[in-house]
Amino acid sequence: MTTLIRPLVAGNWKMNGLIASVTEAETIANELGQGMSPGCDVMLCPPATLLGFMARIIGGSAVILGAQDCHADESGAHTGDISAEMLADIGATAIIVGHSERRQDHGESSALVNGKAQAAWRAGLTAIICVGESEAQRDAGQALDIIGGQVIESVPAGATAENTIVAYEPIWAIGTGKTPTTADVAEMHAHIRATLQNHLGDNCQEMRILYGGSVKPANASELMSVANVNGALVGGASLKAKDFLGIISAYT
Ligand code: PEP
Repeated sequence: MTTLIRPLVAGNWKMNGLIASVTEAETIANELGQGMSPGCDVMLCPPATLLGFMARIIGGSAVILGAQDCHADESGAHTGDISAEMLADIGATAIIVGHSERRQDHGESSALVNGKAQAAWRAGLTAIICVGESEAQRDAGQALDIIGGQVIESVPAGATAENTIVAYEPIWAIGTGKTPTTADVAEMHAHIRATLQNHLGDNCQEMRILYGGSVKPANASELMSVANVNGALVGGASLKAKDFLGIISAYT
């Protein structure tokens, strides 16, 4: 069943990038337009300040645009926040919600993440819902339970393969150069698939489950070939076109 899923390689620029950095996105779009036809979808999620400019630069290319967060409400008195409707208006087609950096830096609970995912749907966008365990939780043998709980609480009822993507990102692997073993990734992704099945039924059979955490050109092929890994969420290595294209190459 999972072999029919078209993978996604999504780049999360986090709080990085000025207008000049959008040339990296332009290079990626140009490469994909010049004969490189990967067997995956390709998305870039720049900071909100660059969404409008990047939308114009990559418009019409194979690169799709995503955002990094949204408020759960449609509009209102929430200074500094951005709604899913605003992100749709500027050209985003997906929103990352529940990234561990938001859970940690902003105290976001799975219940709040659940609300943000529903906000993305309300605006007609795909929710990329992140889950991940800490190193201490893994060392204590709690990783499967923690992730199972985060999936059940963060992924709203009504999630389908069309409106939702789950990203498994062990916190201790993000930006550290450390990655889980392929056996650990396989175990966790199978666990997430089974948890989604129990939680949602058959709606999730073809839902994409991304792996994220220190994905680089050198390890992408190995990680992306693990069962139930349907693509990657990439941080640092998405900032440079050469590195990101090297990861996309895992699917050519
Ligand atoms: C991320 O934060 O989503 C991420 C996976 O970062 P990195 O690739 O830099 O580990």
